[in-house]
Amino acid sequence: LVSRDFHPENSIINVDGLLIGGDEYVTMAGPCSVEGREQIFETARMAAAGGAKVLRGGAFKPRTSPYDFQGLGEEGLQLMREAADRYDLKMITEVMDEGNLDLVCQYTDIIQIGARNMQNFRLLEAVGRTGKPVALKRGISGTINEWLHAAEYIAAQGNLNIIFIERGIRTYEQMTRNTFDLSAVPIIQGLSHLPIIVDPSHGVGVRECIKPMALAGLAAGASGMIVEIHPDPNKAWSDGPQSLNEADYLEMMKEVAILEPTM
Ligand code: PEP
Ligand code: MN
Repeated sequence: LVSRDFHPENSIINVDGLLIGGDEYVTMAGPCSVEGREQIFETARMAAAGGAKVLRGGAFKPRTSPYDFQGLGEEGLQLMREAADRYDLKMITEVMDEGNLDLVCQYTDIIQIGARNMQNFRLLEAVGRTGKPVALKRGISGTINEWLHAAEYIAAQGNLNIIFIERGIRTYEQMTRNTFDLSAVPIIQGLSHLPIIVDPSHGVGVRECIKPMALAGLAAGASGMIVEIHPDPNKAWSDGPQSLNEADYLEMMKEVAILEPTM
């Protein structure tokens, strides 16, 4: 169902009026984690000021260590919804397990499936049954073929509102957090009718590399990007080293706006 053989034209995902995969390049921006009211409202203000249309943020966080901050849970969802509405943004947030799916769906516009859950097949089927837009991250060591099949699990439940997110894969390289695989953009576009966006933040994990890789994603033909921003990245509770402050984010978005019409 996700293959171009099945559906030759590009699919456009309609998120309550916001089109992803159409002519407009869509930016999703926000903190890695929702940390509190002031932080998420301030970040939503920044996101909107730069031209983002979707607020990202985690309330349930898949942290490497069980002792790291795990997210604010439902309180985080509530705060994020309020902040998104205040700045006229859509909302994307991760669901980690089926048990929280109904709860997350009450608040979010787009369900994010994190890299660590790309092959959690029961979860993929459950989000498939919701019918809601789903953004499916590539697994940490996921091949493109495995990623396409993961999307097929969602589609097989009757939900074709799927957006791929390239977020880098694990390789032997240590200078970046992951190896950002931009070739996935044209490859996915060749094999599937569904849109793909890029996540330069997790893709490289190094602040200085975010802008060039974001622009490269646009040049590669992605339908948008998802990027981590924070009012004070050095104080972020998660992923500070890859989060942009307001000035760097606005500078990046200025360059995106210049390039976008030419792509
Ligand atoms: C995130 O978006 O903050 C996240 C945890 O991403 P990933 O699943 O790609 O690691
Ligand atoms: Mn993160």
